[in-house]
Amino acid sequence: MGLVEDLQAAVGAGNVLTGPDSARYARDWMGRYEGQPVAVARPGSTAEVAACVKIAARHGVPVVPISGNTGLVGGTMTTGGLMLTLERMNRIREVKRDSRLVIAEAGVILTRLHEAAEAEGLYFPLWFGARGSAMLGGVLSTNAGGSNVLRYGSTRGLCLGLEVVLADGRMLNLMSELHKDNSGYDLKNLFIGAEGTLGIITAAVMKLVPAPKAHATATVAVRSLTDALTLLNRMQEATGNRVEAFEFMPRTYSERLREARPDLGLPFDPIPEVTILIEAATTVPTEAIPDDAGEIPLVTTLETILAELMEAGLVTDAVLARNEQQRRAMWERREAAAEISVGLHPEVDTDVCLPLDKVEPFLAEALRRLDALDPGARTLTVAHLGDGNLHFTAYPTRDEARLKDKVMETVEDVVAELGGSFSAEHGVGLSKLNSMARRKDPVALDVMRALKAALDPDNRMNPGKVIPG
Ligand SMILES: Cc1cc2nc3c(=O)[nH]c(=O)nc-3n(C[C@H](O)[C@H](O)[C@H](O)COP(=O)(O)OP(=O)(O)OC[C@H]3O[C@@H](n4cnc5c(N)ncnc54)[C@H](O)[C@@H]3O)c2cc1C
Repeated sequence: MGLVEDLQAAVGAGNVLTGPDSARYARDWMGRYEGQPVAVARPGSTAEVAACVKIAARHGVPVVPISGNTGLVGGTMTTGGLMLTLERMNRIREVKRDSRLVIAEAGVILTRLHEAAEAEGLYFPLWFGARGSAMLGGVLSTNAGGSNVLRYGSTRGLCLGLEVVLADGRMLNLMSELHKDNSGYDLKNLFIGAEGTLGIITAAVMKLVPAPKAHATATVAVRSLTDALTLLNRMQEATGNRVEAFEFMPRTYSERLREARPDLGLPFDPIPEVTILIEAATTVPTEAIPDDAGEIPLVTTLETILAELMEAGLVTDAVLARNEQQRRAMWERREAAAEISVGLHPEVDTDVCLPLDKVEPFLAEALRRLDALDPGARTLTVAHLGDGNLHFTAYPTRDEARLKDKVMETVEDVVAELGGSFSAEHGVGLSKLNSMARRKDPVALDVMRALKAALDPDNRMNPGKVIPG
């Protein structure tokens, strides 16, 4: 039998898509990468995933997993490969309230995890714009970050256990509920952030936290990023590290937002150089229950700090969210970032991380060098400033591969000089292979190649991604 017939026998005829039926998986969210998979299979269980992997091996076809297809680095692109979508594996197996964890299959969409946790008075603290589509398998495979990393860490920090189908079709059961386990190599963490190059994640055990009882959210205009850090540190001290998000939107971002999404409005006129979205959250009743004046104490704390910093001249303006609707409006302005940046071309996307006190020097130097390299090039920056992660996108004046790579290299140079990383959140996929070749420690690359060869000797699992050459 041929590949398609074998797959149909394993997962059912209706769960093997070819031709036009597979088109929506073949193209990435940004429309930047478009491949041609030989077929898309929709396994409904771990055993079916294993069967598909074995069938692909028999036919000598690569396997490319796809979850929500919101990845931004071309990680799911394939021509000639078998795509495995985990969308049918969307069962939440169990929420354990007392041990604060959820056991779920890889095809569960993030918002469903949020809802399931909320139903038990808990919270799954991985939060970002694509939460309505991104799935557990995808966020684990990219070690996704998002807006709450400052307080809860990235996906890796939230994962206790993992189930993985290996390249030879065996199931690796690491579904631990333990917070500590020193019994040999930490295999789980090999697969997290591996972007499907080492195996297929089919299920996971994820930590939950108590659901916040109140939020304090504000949009703040500050003079500089140094002043912004003063605000962050003051609020962390005053609340015992309860700041959950600290997002940076420079003037150029607000201008582009006004142009592309006038319906969202802007909080300040004129637009300040630095706009910060700060959010703290508490589970402590004394901070969350309104006082006699009807004020939520956590909000009062934020208001008091903002007033102090305004008095000192560090904060120039601020708007507090007084209700959930105002809070959501603040977040909408920040979460429009992906939408407003993909509308512009040609683009060079970077996703860098810097020590917090080096973000300001990075921006000054990167802009200076970019201007020298390509006068007239534009940029758009938005950042999870609380963890030093910047989405710094450059728009060169010409759509030339050499120029675009030079722009990327220039940004990488500045990042390296300031002790940062060229890849902090979205993964490597196809789009950062050149950066990996240039910047990753050669010994680290050798170790990665050795691991890949040991786990996937025939180079069948998402080949050509993450590891250059
Ligand atoms: C509007 C928007 C906002 C975003 N904001 C953020 C953000 O704040 N922080 C952030 O980190 N990312 C962000 N992203 C990027 C993206 O959402 C994340 O990378 C997300 O983790 C991808 O999940 P997904 O389910 O869509 O995975 P996909 O895009 O389907 O896949 C991503 C990678 O994982 C591999 N993969 C998928 N499923 C599996 C599996 N089961 N086993 C093994 N490998 C697998 C794929 O082959 C691919 O290499 C954003 C994207 C958009 C569109």
